Amino acid sequence: MAGKSPLVGVLALQGDFEKHQLALERAGASQSEVRGVEDLAKVDALVIPGGESTTMLRLMDYFDLFDQLREFGLKKPIFGTCAGAILIAREVLSPAQKSLDLMDITVERNAYGRQVDSRIVALDSKIGELEAVFIRAPIIRRTGPEVEVLATYLDSAVLVKQGMHMAATFHPELSDDLTVHRLFLESIGA
Ligand code: GLN
Repeated sequence: MAGKSPLVGVLALQGDFEKHQLALERAGASQSEVRGVEDLAKVDALVIPGGESTTMLRLMDYFDLFDQLREFGLKKPIFGTCAGAILIAREVLSPAQKSLDLMDITVERNAYGRQVDSRIVALDSKIGELEAVFIRAPIIRRTGPEVEVLATYLDSAVLVKQGMHMAATFHPELSDDLTVHRLFLESIGA
């Protein structure tokens, strides 16, 4: 990647991928939509956005992308937010569903309950104060020994890093603050 800034793909099958594209642009990164295998081959890192993980899984199967995404993630960095965090987890609960198994975390879907399922909170994190927008968010119930917890909310990890991968159970793309996107971009040398 020497000399050339990495191209960050944003998985654009479903969900709020456009907001991630805008956030990446605002952070000064080069980005492009990933809708199929050819697009994936062109990018150096990938963001999997929030949305509905079950729908995204169906579309991944439909476009033959599931195995390709897993292969991609074995070599290149992925940042999953909300549904994206569910998709890159090792284990998914409530209900169980398949996942890319790229980060050693167990996540429980829609875990904050129906009455209070969406909220905006200010978090003190290892990377400074963050605004976290939760929308029908999962809770990370377990983190493996290689997982670094960067932020917590109500005693559960909400921003985690493992090697080159990152996951957030909230939506950094919906806040003006670019700290979380910048952290991912820095970690990939963008
Ligand atoms: N509840 C969604 C799911 O289970 C995730 C919500 C989100 O991405 N905002 O996939």
